[in-house]
Amino acid sequence: MIRIEHISKRFKKLQALDDITVQLIKGQVVSLIGPNGSGKTTLIKSILGMVRPDKGKIFVDESPINGDPDYRKKIGYMPQIGRYPDNMKVGQLFKMLRNIRNADEKETDSFLIKHFELEKIFEKPMRTLSGGTRQKVSAAIAFLFDPAILILDEPTAGLDPLASEILKGKILEEKKKGKLILITSHILSDLDELTTHIMYMQDGKMQFFNDIETLQEETGELRLGKAIARIMKGEKTDKNWIDKMFEPENDEKIF
Ligand code: ADP
Ligand code: MG
Repeated sequence: MIRIEHISKRFKKLQALDDITVQLIKGQVVSLIGPNGSGKTTLIKSILGMVRPDKGKIFVDESPINGDPDYRKKIGYMPQIGRYPDNMKVGQLFKMLRNIRNADEKETDSFLIKHFELEKIFEKPMRTLSGGTRQKVSAAIAFLFDPAILILDEPTAGLDPLASEILKGKILEEKKKGKLILITSHILSDLDELTTHIMYMQDGKMQFFNDIETLQEETGELRLGKAIARIMKGEKTDKNWIDKMFEPENDEKIF
């Protein structure tokens, strides 16, 4: 569904993305993990066409994204920091989005609007919302049009525990439908029950991409946080497994 080929992006002297190649497939819940500043948001924004890479290509459903911007309709995006017109009321925002998409209320997914009780704040201007409430609005928007791909950048950051559970439940539901979900989070325990694949980034480079079972086997840890910690400390059982991971399975050359 999303194919990323040799993407690089530089901000002046800083190499934010360094030759990233990866393919993400329907049904995967990919947890994009890495320290602050490792390039996670830049990669996500590149997929969405909000950052233009210096090199490389990105395909969504086999079409290059620099063509028709309509591919964006396939993606529900929850930004790390949502920016909205300050004076627009919450209710107006949802109305406007539905108008743009020509979708009436019944055709859209109002699950999060309902469970986050956003109707209560429909009359409030966006600028008056707290960070957490803004996150709830961003989440509700990401799921609104039942997109086949969800890209969620730190979705639970700033949410209270109840809201966080509601959102995780919703993500799990979408996973069951076989959607492709790309999610970043610093709260690794939030990702445990969701993740099928891990993509780890550092200094703009992709350090590894693997499915969760392999990661658990290689590290002997079931919890994502512990498994990642072991890898970062170089404590994995098979020292060459990262190299092996990049060996093409067939005779197909990927690099
Ligand atoms: P992450 O999401 O992993 O924390 P980011 O992708 O946000 O990392 O940032 C990667 C690096 O690129 C950081 O050092 C950040 O400061 C830098 N960066 C991101 N966007 C810009 C920009 N628009 N201009 C300059 N530097 C940027
Ligand atoms: Mg980020």
